[in-house]
Amino acid sequence: MKKLIILTGAGISAESGIKTFRDSDGLWENHNVMDVATPEAWEKNPQLVTDFYNERRIQLSKSKPNRAHLILKELEKKFDVKIITQNVDDLHERANSKNIYHLHGELNKMRSSVDENLIYKTTKLEYSLEDKCEKGSVLRPHIVWFGEAVPMIDTAIDICKEADILVIIGTGLNVYPAAGLVNYIKDNTPIYIIDPAEVNISNMPNITHIKNKATIGCEKLMEILNK
Ligand code: NAD
Repeated sequence: MKKLIILTGAGISAESGIKTFRDSDGLWENHNVMDVATPEAWEKNPQLVTDFYNERRIQLSKSKPNRAHLILKELEKKFDVKIITQNVDDLHERANSKNIYHLHGELNKMRSSVDENLIYKTTKLEYSLEDKCEKGSVLRPHIVWFGEAVPMIDTAIDICKEADILVIIGTGLNVYPAAGLVNYIKDNTPIYIIDPAEVNISNMPNITHIKNKATIGCEKLMEILNK
């Protein structure tokens, strides 16, 4: 089976009702990301950060995978599919995709604020600063905030090196190191981009840009790949 590597960003979840950054002028649900998604924000105002991620979890609980997420699952019938996602939602999981790698963390996990190895999967939507890890420190969202290291990047690089086909869906390719992953594919690997807007990718051979929203774009992709 050919290895189909898929890099997803906020745009694939837009049609499930979860807003992207770019479409909100760099704001994330009316917040400046620097106020809610950085270690400094957590240091300065942990209550605001906790409330922000509580809202994100509640919003996610009311959202469902869309046709694009479901098509990526269907592609597993013919391809060895691996999804590297920048998203913190769980819509790929809820579409039953098998191999999902979260570069930027997950909304439905919390972790100790003193020991990054103490990670807790949760179905609880709302946390308070009273919720502690087993070592007694406050629980923080298991999210890679701006300015933090991306522990999953080496795994993602290895996956990209093996790609027979790379598909990029709903990401402006502006956030590093994720945006640099395209540089690790083998020469002449076909790349399909699904995004209604231009994305920040250097001139590479073999790029096909399907300029549609993710749901329609993924239908078109499936047609092309099934030929
Ligand atoms: P981005 O907001 O920078 O870019 C979103 C891209 O999606 C844009 O190129 C836009 O043209 C495209 N887009 C918008 N609607 C689309 C649609 N219906 N179908 C296909 N494409 C569409 O997002 P990013 O590149 O993922 O990077 C921002 C960071 O924001 C990531 O690190 C991510 O963790 C975080 N984020 C995550 C979520 C989520 O988990 N769903 C939501 C917002 C932001």
